[in-house]
Amino acid sequence: MRTPVLAGNWKMYMTPEEGRQMVQALIPLVADCQEREIVLCPPYTSLAALAEALKGTNIASGAQNMHPAKEGAYTGEVAPGMLKALNCKYVILGHSERRQYFGETDAMVAEKVKAALAANLIPIVCVGETLAQREQGITEPVVDIQVRLGLAGLSPEELAGIIIAYEPVWAIGTGKTASSADAQKVCRFIRSVLSSWHGDAAKKVRILYGGSVKPDNIRELMEQPDIDGALVGGASLKADSFARIVRFE
Ligand code: PGA
Repeated sequence: MRTPVLAGNWKMYMTPEEGRQMVQALIPLVADCQEREIVLCPPYTSLAALAEALKGTNIASGAQNMHPAKEGAYTGEVAPGMLKALNCKYVILGHSERRQYFGETDAMVAEKVKAALAANLIPIVCVGETLAQREQGITEPVVDIQVRLGLAGLSPEELAGIIIAYEPVWAIGTGKTASSADAQKVCRFIRSVLSSWHGDAAKKVRILYGGSVKPDNIRELMEQPDIDGALVGGASLKADSFARIVRFE
């Protein structure tokens, strides 16, 4: 049995005060939600405010990226231990916007995944094809490579503890969701790749769908056998819509 994960990715939106207000509105709306992990990933600058506001609640926080080194002369970067110190439990890695705008490669993702695990952070590793790749019919090989390279070198135990988010790039922020059947097909394919590699550990890996998830489509997505939750961008910025997603309403 895999515990569902509903994670909000705030991207580069909201000041600490706006984040605090959103969270205060969200807490009572999801307080009775059992048996699921609720996660908010704000910009780095709001992590301290959220750590304070989320104390004693059933909502955890995560970061949207990190540098793999423990510390060092890396201007503008943030280390895994710094995230832990702000109560982060999760970290999104290899988001398509990081790959597209900041040149992140699968090798960089692999290095960050190892560093996150070493720091006791749960990585949420993003994979997904572009529209051109889908139109060429190469979704599976593209995702296969991202999974194999991004998770290279993980032991079965390490693999079992991570989260993968399948996010077709053409569905992110566009309002176009993959149909639940298409999303299920790719999520099942990802699990088959993991299982050919590490056997039963693949059954424990939570695989999320991301890309224009809304209250309207969450229920159908969650009914799919290989979809264990959602990574939500736009609809995670408002307490009401994110609460409805968390509640599958
Ligand atoms: P979206 O973003 O829900 O706004 O499409 C998803 C994501 O990028 O994680």
